[in-house]
Amino acid sequence: MHSVLDKKIDFLPGVGTTRASLLNTELGIFTYAELIEHYPFRYEDRSKFYQISSLSEDLDNIQLKGKITSVSKAGTGRKERLVAKFTDGTGSVDLIWFQGIKWVEKKLVTGADYILYGKPTIFGHSFNFSHPEITALTPALEKPTGLKPVYSLTEKLRKKFIDSRIIGQITQNALRDIGTNIPENLPESLLVKYKMIPRFQAYQLIHHPKNYSHVRHALRRLKFEELFYNQLSLINQKLLRKNEFEGHLFTKTELLTKFYTDHLPFELTNAQKKVIKEIFFDFKSQMQMNRLLQGDVGSGKTIVSFICMLMAVDCNAQCCLMAPTEILAIQHYHGLKVFAEKIGLKIALLTGSTKKKERTVIHEELLNGTINIIIGTHALIEDKVQFQNLGLCVIDEQHRFGVAQRAKLWNKNKEIHPHILVMTATPIPRTLAMTLYGDLDVSVIDELPAGRKPIKTVHRYDSKRLEVFQFIREEILKGRQVYIVYPLIEESEKMDFKNLMDGYESIARAFPDNPLSIVHGKMKAKDKDYEMQRFVKGETDIMVATTVIEVGVNVPNASLMIIENSERFGLAQLHQLRGRVGRGAEQSYCILMTDFKLSRESKKRIETMVETNDGFKISEVDLELRGPGDMSGTQQSGLVDLKIANLATDGAILKFARESALEILDQDPELIQPQHAMIKAFVDKKKSPRLNWSRIS
Ligand code: ADP
Ligand code: MG
Repeated sequence: MHSVLDKKIDFLPGVGTTRASLLNTELGIFTYAELIEHYPFRYEDRSKFYQISSLSEDLDNIQLKGKITSVSKAGTGRKERLVAKFTDGTGSVDLIWFQGIKWVEKKLVTGADYILYGKPTIFGHSFNFSHPEITALTPALEKPTGLKPVYSLTEKLRKKFIDSRIIGQITQNALRDIGTNIPENLPESLLVKYKMIPRFQAYQLIHHPKNYSHVRHALRRLKFEELFYNQLSLINQKLLRKNEFEGHLFTKTELLTKFYTDHLPFELTNAQKKVIKEIFFDFKSQMQMNRLLQGDVGSGKTIVSFICMLMAVDCNAQCCLMAPTEILAIQHYHGLKVFAEKIGLKIALLTGSTKKKERTVIHEELLNGTINIIIGTHALIEDKVQFQNLGLCVIDEQHRFGVAQRAKLWNKNKEIHPHILVMTATPIPRTLAMTLYGDLDVSVIDELPAGRKPIKTVHRYDSKRLEVFQFIREEILKGRQVYIVYPLIEESEKMDFKNLMDGYESIARAFPDNPLSIVHGKMKAKDKDYEMQRFVKGETDIMVATTVIEVGVNVPNASLMIIENSERFGLAQLHQLRGRVGRGAEQSYCILMTDFKLSRESKKRIETMVETNDGFKISEVDLELRGPGDMSGTQQSGLVDLKIANLATDGAILKFARESALEILDQDPELIQPQHAMIKAFVDKKKSPRLNWSRIS
C-alpha cells in the first residue's frame, strides 16, 4: 500500500534532481516520511526582541534591537579581539569577536541600528555576546518572525547552499501536500489520557511552531510515540525470547581452567568473577542469553568476554566480537590474539578494509569451523558472513549499535540462536539502564582492578598553556605518552578542524624532538589505523586527536590526557575520554583546558570531573544538568536509535510510554483487538522498510 508519505522528495517544489540526490546521500532522506522526520534540533527565537535590562544567563540565543556605540580592538597576536558596545536604551552589552575580525569590523558602523542574535553570557558585572550574528536593521526585519527551526546539516550541503531555511521550506511544501494524511498510530484512549495532540498536527508544529508552547506539545507527542514503539518492541522481544528460544548449552570448563591457571596475567576482581558466574549460569540454563554488561571504563570487560568465549569454544561453538570502529576492532584483535594463540585457538579479524582475498578465506574458515573467534566491525553483519556454529556474540560499546543489528547477528545461527553479550561503558543510572535495555538482563562490574591509581584531574585555563606544556615534557621524559584531544562537532566542523590543525602545529613547534601522531575523523581508516598503531607501539609520544579515540582505545603507557576546549564536551563524553588514561600502573592525569569564560553548566561539568572518577555519579549529575526541554543533545545521546526522545531527560515520558506498552501487550499480546489495529499496522510497516545499515551507527 502506498501512502503519500512514501512519495519521493524529488518532485517537491524547491527540490529538483540535484538537491534530491544531495539530500539522499548527505542525510539519507529519500521520501516525504524521512524528510518530515528530520526534526529541527533547536529553534532560533525570533519571536520577540529582548531588553538588555531583562537578560539572564539561562537564556539561549535571543534577539536584541539597538545601536553600536563604539568599536575597538584589544590584545595582540593570537589574543587579539574586537569589542563593540551595543545599547538598546535599557542597558549596554559587549560584543566580542576573536575570529574574522577584519571582516566584522568592516560591517560595524557606530551609531547605526542593528539586530543582534546570540547567547548572552555573564562576564564580570555585565553581559556579553561572543560572535553574535549582527544584521543591519531594515523595516522588514523589524517584525519578529517567530521560531525558526534549525536542522542538522553537513558541510557539503552548506557548500551547495542548502541551509536550515531551505530545508524548512521544502518540509513545509511536503507537509502541505501531505495535509492530514499522516495516519494516527496511538489509540484515542492514550491521546486522551496523556493530553496529546494528533500525529499530523505534531509534525506541523515541530517544523513550524509559532511559540514554545507549540514546540512542547509537538515534542511531547512525538517523544511519547517514539518511546512507546521502542518499548513495545523491546518488551515484545523479551516476551518472545523468554517463551521460545532455547540456547546453546555450555557446561565445560576445561579450556577455561587451563587459561586461568597458566595464562591469566592478573587476578580477576570480585566483580569480574561475579559477572562470569552470572553468565555461566545463563550458559547452563538451556535458554538463550541476552545480557548487558555494564562496567565503567577500565573495569576490564574485555577479559570477561574472552573468558566467556572460552566456555563456548570448549563446546565447539564459535564466537564473534563486534566493535563499533575499526581502530577498536584491531585493538581487540591484537589483545586477544596473544591469549588465543597460547591455548591454540584460531582467531581472525574482519573489517571493512580486509582485502578481498583474505576475506574469502575468512568466510570459508568461518563456515567450515576452522576459526574459533572472529573479531570485527559492521562487516560481521553482512549476509556473506556465515558460521558453522555461532554460539556467542559479544557486542562492545553498545550505544553505537542498534537493536536491529543485534537481531542480525542473532540470526546467524538459525538452529539455535547464539547467546548475546552486550558490553557498554556508557555510564547511565541503573534504573534508566533497566528501562532502556528493556529486553536485556543486566550485569554490572562495579569495581576497578586493584592497584589502579585514581586519575588526578585538574582544570587549567588556556593562559596556563606553557605550564601545561612543561608538564607534558616531564611526563614524556619519564617515558610516558600523552593524548591531546580537540572537539570536533558537525555544526562547527570547519572551524573545529582548523583549531585541531592549528593545535597540531603549535604542539609540533613546542615539541620539535618528539614524534607525534594525529588521528581525526576525516582520515581514511587505513591512515587512522597506521597513526594509531604508531602510538600503540610507543613510536610516538603524543597523540593529537579528535573524539575518535573516545571509545575503548587501550594504551596503558599513556598517562596524561589534555582535553582542549573541554567546556564544549558533555559529561559522559569527558568521562569516556578520560578513561583512555589510568590504564597502567603509573599515576595518570587529566587536564581540562578551558577559556576564562564559562557558563554555569560548563563550570558544573568541569567541577564534577575534577571531583570524581565514578561514572555513575557523573551520570547522575549529567541527568540533573540536562533538564527537560533542552532539545539540543537529543541527537548526541545516541544510546539507542532514537530520533527525538532523549533518555537522559525524558525519563517521565519514558515511564508512561513503557507502562502503556506493557498494559497493551498484557491485554492483547498479538495486537488483534480492533482498537489496537493502528498499532499493529504501524509495527508491521516499521518492520518492512528498506534497511540501510550504514545509517544506523
Ligand atoms: P574496559 O572495561 O574499559 O573495556 P578493558 O577490558 O580494556 O576495560 O581493560 C582495561 C585494562 O585493564 C586492560 O589493560 C586489561 O588487561 C586490564 N585488566 C582487566 N582486568 C584486570 C584485572 N583484574 N587486574 C588487572 N588488570 C586488569
Ligand atoms: Mg572496552
